[in-house]
Amino acid sequence: TIEFVRATQLQGDTEPSAPPAPTQAQQKESIQVVRRSLPVFPFREELLAAIANHQVLIIEGETGSGKTTQIPQYLFEEGYTKKGAKIACTQPRRVAAMSVAARVAREMGVKLGNEVGYSIRFEDCTSERTVLRYMTDGMLLREFLSEPDLASYSVVMVDEAHERTLHTDILFGLIKDVARFRPELKVLVASATLDTARFSTFFDDAPVFRIPGRRFPVDIFYTKAPEADYLEACVVSVLQIHVTQPPGDILVFLTGQEEIETACEMLQDRCRRLGSKIRELLVLPIYANLPSDMQARIFQPTPPGARKVVVATNIAETSLTIEGIIYVLDPGFCKLKSYNPRTGMESLTVTPCSKASASQRAGRAGRVAAGKCFRLYTAWAYQHELEETTVPEIQRTSLGNVVLLLKSLGIHDLMHFDFLDPPPYETLLLALEQLYALGALNHLGELTTSGRKMAELPVDPMLSKMILASEKYSCSEEILTVAAMLSVNNSIFYRPKDKVVHADNARVNFFLPGGDHLVLLNVYTQWAESGYSSQWCYENFVQFRSMRRARDVREQLEGLLERVEVGLSSCQGDYIRVRKAITAGYFYHTARLTRSGYRTVKQQQTVFIHPNSSLFEEQPRWLLYHELVLTTKEFMRQVLEIESSWLLEVAPHYYKAKELEDPHAKKMPRKVGKTREELG
Ligand code: ADP
Ligand code: MG
Repeated sequence: TIEFVRATQLQGDTEPSAPPAPTQAQQKESIQVVRRSLPVFPFREELLAAIANHQVLIIEGETGSGKTTQIPQYLFEEGYTKKGAKIACTQPRRVAAMSVAARVAREMGVKLGNEVGYSIRFEDCTSERTVLRYMTDGMLLREFLSEPDLASYSVVMVDEAHERTLHTDILFGLIKDVARFRPELKVLVASATLDTARFSTFFDDAPVFRIPGRRFPVDIFYTKAPEADYLEACVVSVLQIHVTQPPGDILVFLTGQEEIETACEMLQDRCRRLGSKIRELLVLPIYANLPSDMQARIFQPTPPGARKVVVATNIAETSLTIEGIIYVLDPGFCKLKSYNPRTGMESLTVTPCSKASASQRAGRAGRVAAGKCFRLYTAWAYQHELEETTVPEIQRTSLGNVVLLLKSLGIHDLMHFDFLDPPPYETLLLALEQLYALGALNHLGELTTSGRKMAELPVDPMLSKMILASEKYSCSEEILTVAAMLSVNNSIFYRPKDKVVHADNARVNFFLPGGDHLVLLNVYTQWAESGYSSQWCYENFVQFRSMRRARDVREQLEGLLERVEVGLSSCQGDYIRVRKAITAGYFYHTARLTRSGYRTVKQQQTVFIHPNSSLFEEQPRWLLYHELVLTTKEFMRQVLEIESSWLLEVAPHYYKAKELEDPHAKKMPRKVGKTREELG
């Protein structure tokens, strides 16, 4: 057992003894009753009046009060979509965009994709008729490319503004500008109860409309001592809550898909072993790549007598509200991107969440009745180890993508762009430098023809460059597959706990000399030859859903080839051409083997091949990587063996022959580092 101590209470505005708010299970009558029970409903008229009277309105309301699902509907009912005008509502996360659109379509009694739809990268569920468009913030950003004044929209609602994602932040600057010369455009900035004064100031002191929440008090507990293994601690605590606490569902916050799947397996495993000694516990995951039928399950009411535990990423912090949660379990971590502009290295790291996040998470327990939040860290750690708020993404990410987009929109002076919080100067500079090296900008910082094409493709600049280069090396068929597989990255292979050996063997069977990109190509090609069969996936421990997604992405990219003037062609088995095309995009991400292991070529950073890579034991002298992931070390994920001479061929302006010489060539040990077996 884990010992918790009660420390503080998150104040509510509702008496703990008040009858619990009606849950959807009890509200079978009609969906309209549910709509009218939401905290935003009593403010409907007042809100619509405020929107009519002001061009820009900041809307602040507790999570779950109905901002995302109701406000666009009110606007629809009020006639803001007359004459086919559209309403956009942005979400930082794809899952949220899909899920709320589905919910709103159901509330309006229409088919998803008709009046209500969603649009996320590589997936467009909208039609000519769609007037309520839920979309990721990145998609609205791309809308500016085809419609710089957003003329077909009457209202733009930037939702979840407090998340401060890179795309949301850039949207602020662009929308503020559009609003100036389109006085009839309505701009709504919706946010959880955080940071709203900042938004108001940014939008020339726009008024803030507050929707009072309905919040029951939440008792907060901390562990007595720090927990070494928080995943194990989570599983133990969930079971502890399940056997000792009165009814009510549990929400657990973890950092990502892998962790969530592991935790769910562990929980199911232990429940099975306890058998009928405990009541039924439904274990449900929710994360970004979860297929939509599985997503829908978390919203289904818990059957009487059972208890539900939802194991979620940050998505459940403010984007999605699950009814019936009484207990929150918070290990206090999240996965954050970080970027070092000095080295140009971007990595994903599991870091302690902020106090603001911790408080939002705790708040999720007090929506239907008084709740409890169990924090898997000590009160001391809360006080001393958590930052107040999360640093906005714009200050901890690379900006290549966004700079390319802004340049395509004709915004040249990026140093003076209207940023809510400006990115670090070095990051901006490095993005310009990288785009220059990729040939997207000329020496004056102007967009080149190639840069314009790169901006057309909805992928990162390096990936677009790789696709463009496939024309020169006549291998676009293969490169499209590689690009599609890279974008569903890390969820291709299935590795169930009880069949680890079989799964690993199956994976090794796909290995091809050259590296992981070719392995991905091999998996896809064999799958295509099987007739895109799910049985084939099952037999080869490959995730069917990920493959299906790769196929979708591939089709979409293929559809864009003509616009960027790349013809379809195949390398006919000459993989050197494929590898060169990849190098043409990723020459920035290269490493060489030195006597002390791998170092990145330009910055001389120490990096390691990920143990899952097909090249883990090969240890080639020169390689490129798709991405870096910082866990215990800086691991390179998806690596490809290259020859140093290729770097001169594809990026002569970036590499000099001198720096690619290998002084220790003869003295190289054959292997550096430990083998897979030695690592266990
Ligand atoms: P906010 O944006 O203010 O956080 P929402 O509009 O997302 O609030 O949520 C309002 C209500 O709609 C919540 O009670 C939530 O549980 C419910 N809801 C949202 N999406 C779904 C869904 N897919 N299924 C069932 N209920 C949902
Ligand atoms: Mg919302």
